[in-house]
Amino acid sequence: MAAVQQTQQTLTCLTCLLSALLLRTWPTFAEELTWDENGYVLYCPCMGRFGNQADHFLGSLAFAKMLNRTLAVPPWIVYRHNTAPYTNVHVPYSEFFQLEALSAYHRVLSLEDFMEKLAPKYWPAGQRKAYCFETAAQRSADKKSCPMKDGNPFGPFWDYVGVEFDTSVLFGGISFGAYHQPQWMKKFPPSEHPVLALPGAPAQFPVIEEHVGLQRYVVWSDKMVKEGEEHIATLLTRPYVGIHLRIGIDWKNACKMLKSGDTGPHFMASPQCVGYNRQSALPLTMTMCLPDLAEIRRAVKLWVKKTSSRSVYVATDSESHSRDIEKLFKGKVKVVTLQPDSAQMDLYILGRADHFIGNCVSSFSAFVKRERDIHGLPSSFFGMDKPGKSNHKEEL
Ligand code: GDP
Ligand code: MN
Repeated sequence: MAAVQQTQQTLTCLTCLLSALLLRTWPTFAEELTWDENGYVLYCPCMGRFGNQADHFLGSLAFAKMLNRTLAVPPWIVYRHNTAPYTNVHVPYSEFFQLEALSAYHRVLSLEDFMEKLAPKYWPAGQRKAYCFETAAQRSADKKSCPMKDGNPFGPFWDYVGVEFDTSVLFGGISFGAYHQPQWMKKFPPSEHPVLALPGAPAQFPVIEEHVGLQRYVVWSDKMVKEGEEHIATLLTRPYVGIHLRIGIDWKNACKMLKSGDTGPHFMASPQCVGYNRQSALPLTMTMCLPDLAEIRRAVKLWVKKTSSRSVYVATDSESHSRDIEKLFKGKVKVVTLQPDSAQMDLYILGRADHFIGNCVSSFSAFVKRERDIHGLPSSFFGMDKPGKSNHKEEL
């Protein structure tokens, strides 16, 4: 904790940073972890792929701050459904983003560091409690055990960090929201419950409006910036429009649920464009969920014109339609698709576009939209050229 706070100060003070470097007396971020008496929050990002995990991350960060516990930041779970050996990959947070940038908001360390440097002494094997809802424990054989490692991705995740759970602590009648903060503190004082290890994120999906602004602390790693900027420089000519095509088979099936009409005013990440207020939410159309080629062409044409763009970057979960898009401009606009190994590279390039056209229902798009909002960059959605200005105020 002390190390993190000191690092925070060094980051905000150049002279301090310089003298720290010269005197070399201050511990750096990675070294010398001291135990936080206020306790820790550990969780598995066990629901969904990157977009869902990112939404959950913001909420979990807020939850840890609410309880004044250090957040043990988990790795991202990457699923390999289509490539051997088909096992999940656990990518440390810092591969993609700067862990240090989070500490401007709250105390964090990586789950890997927690396990390596603190757990052996302060959370030793044999004393590891799992915490979960009574309802979740109902699924276990004795109805009293948290299903921490049941199935995929749960088992492989805790195996990756090398954790077996010894006992379970159940709770009920309590949510992760601010309303229940006093109950959490009373039920689980850090002196008796130093490590709250949870089977899933202590957060909602999609991210609640109050936590959207926490995206500010999710800052790309130097490695991602370097690679991303290289791609942009070699492939694209500014200005460029970035588009996210979420049109694959799983998405087609998901959007079918809209037709049945029982999805309610909100559907997955849609609050980002229809508005968070359920009463005043704008209608969500099929075109917004699953734009057809006509809509893709219409929107791209409109924004390329408006921004006088010279290239278009297509990120896609399946086909890119790059030929069709190229034809719109008679060869005057370059259409680029990278189909990178890591989805995060697409996110980076979309985030840096001069204009972004996203998919309102997709949390993958939502990541890009939030980041762009932080930096004052313009975005629209397929089927919605002027997304309603959210009246959200940044939480600080
Ligand atoms: P959502 O399902 O759209 O809300 O977003 P998720 O991130 O939860 O799941 C979609 C996943 O599909 C992503 O995490 C990516 O792995 C993949 N995906 C979707 N769109 C794209 C894309 O444009 N580019 C790449 N590289 N992957 C994508
Ligand atoms: Mn998803």
